[in-house]
Amino acid sequence: MRNKCSICDREKESGSDLCYRHEKAYKNLKKVYIKWKKAVNIDWNEYLKEVIEIPETGTWVKEVALNLINNQKTQTYL
Ligand SMILES: [Zn+2]
Repeated sequence: MRNKCSICDREKESGSDLCYRHEKAYKNLKKVYIKWKKAVNIDWNEYLKEVIEIPETGTWVKEVALNLINNQKTQTYL
């Protein structure tokens, strides 16, 4: 069993595939998605792609979004 984050080489959090920083970024990504959903009709996939394009998006969040797209873990989480 891997003990490393699926994105970086840090130790992963228990109950997660991600380390503390990436897990935090992932939670934030989901939180922001809920806000977006209220304003615009966008699906999770499109949202991830949009997030990557935004210059203000933090590195951690971008890495999580890219990882989700690349692994096609793009089914709806909500
Ligand atoms: Zn990580």
